Amino acid sequence: MSYGLSPEQQRLRDEVRDFADNVVAPAAYKYDTLRELPYEIIAEMGAMGLFGLPFPTEYGGQGRTYIDLCLAVEQLARVDQSIAVTLEAGVGLGAMPVFRSGTEAQKQEWLPMLAQGTALAAFGLTEADAGSDAAGTKTTAELVDGQWVINGTKQFITNSGTKITRLVTITAVTGESVRADGSVKKELTAILVPSGTPGFTVLPPYDKVGWHTSDTHPLRFEDVRVPAENLLGERGRGFASFIQTLDEGRVAFAALCTGAAQGCLEEAMRYAKSRNVFGHPIGDNQHVAFTIARMEARVHSARLAWYDAANRLVAGQPFKLEASLAKMIGSEAAMDNARDAAQIFGGNGVMNENPVGRHYRDSKILEIGEGTTEVQLMVIARELGFAGAAR
Ligand SMILES: Cc1cc2nc3c(=O)[nH]c(=O)nc-3n(C[C@H](O)[C@H](O)[C@H](O)COP(=O)(O)OP(=O)(O)OC[C@H]3O[C@@H](n4cnc5c(N)ncnc54)[C@H](O)[C@@H]3O)c2cc1C
Repeated sequence: MSYGLSPEQQRLRDEVRDFADNVVAPAAYKYDTLRELPYEIIAEMGAMGLFGLPFPTEYGGQGRTYIDLCLAVEQLARVDQSIAVTLEAGVGLGAMPVFRSGTEAQKQEWLPMLAQGTALAAFGLTEADAGSDAAGTKTTAELVDGQWVINGTKQFITNSGTKITRLVTITAVTGESVRADGSVKKELTAILVPSGTPGFTVLPPYDKVGWHTSDTHPLRFEDVRVPAENLLGERGRGFASFIQTLDEGRVAFAALCTGAAQGCLEEAMRYAKSRNVFGHPIGDNQHVAFTIARMEARVHSARLAWYDAANRLVAGQPFKLEASLAKMIGSEAAMDNARDAAQIFGGNGVMNENPVGRHYRDSKILEIGEGTTEVQLMVIARELGFAGAAR
């Protein structure tokens, strides 16, 4: 089905699907076990232009659209969620804030290497007391003699400690004001911190349930000094800019979820036709066939949901509601399909070398990362006019 994609978009989708099947899938179990990012695969993705898809050619990008990025992410996620999230976070969370909010000098400095995939950037918002509630941010940045002096910690930051990570955008409290009701409002600001800046430490990686190949670290900032010009966007607009980053990122994340759900569907269909039990293929049992039919229905809904959100995004229409719907529908489709596929595979479904077993571990993260399911429900309810839905 073309879903209204242009011939170029269909070609890109097919090209990335071939790359995923022939290059990424055969290496997935090895790197999942090693818990290492395969740099040669990331370099190939860079050479294919995948990291530059939504950026203009003047910044080293491909001059395509956000939909093209989502198509690539979906195809990679069919076979390896870690590789897909390295691309999704690298572009959506790493490079996109620089493109959307950066000065011309910041774009010229950072975007060409990020768009070519020779460097990665990360986005550091989450802290121990600031996950779903970003207002809990405690990291501070104080302007002293023309430099931001940053102190604090961040946690669960994707792509922050790879060999090619060059930058992390962080959110920090740069001041406070008192509201009319006497409550304190934090001024949140986004600041660019290049890797290797003295006092900026990337702590050892997490031992995650899934996404073993994807790079995730806690970060520590101790009197880290960066020039005042490293301000990203306007001072005090950090909240607005990361909300924009997250809304947009959720669309690509929803495409990732769709790919994961699709990968489980394809594996389950193949196995249901080839595995004989009681003298016939297990897919002959109506229960198994109906399970697969339901898996197809989930993939279909998830794909339509991200296409809708992505089309609104590129058309410049409001897409906040649709992005949260797509993220929630997609992540639930991926988790449900992974559970059903593992069941269809029986004992083989819970073996790590089986892609279905890996999807089963990886997919739980989809319901948590880039805003939990409950946060999506909060956004959806607010968009429907339930202003108090945060409580
Ligand atoms: C592998 C991985 C990669 C990540 N990468 C990044 C990254 O690159 N950059 C980054 O900044 N962050 C990243 N994150 C962090 C991620 O965005 C957060 O983990 C997520 O937003 C949830 O925050 P939390 O873990 O603090 O959970 P909490 O906010 O503590 O929530 C705990 C539970 O309470 C629920 N909850 C909270 N408030 C409410 C409410 N009002 N109503 C109902 N339920 C509620 C939540 O939904 C959740 O189920 C990553 C996380 C993971 C696991």
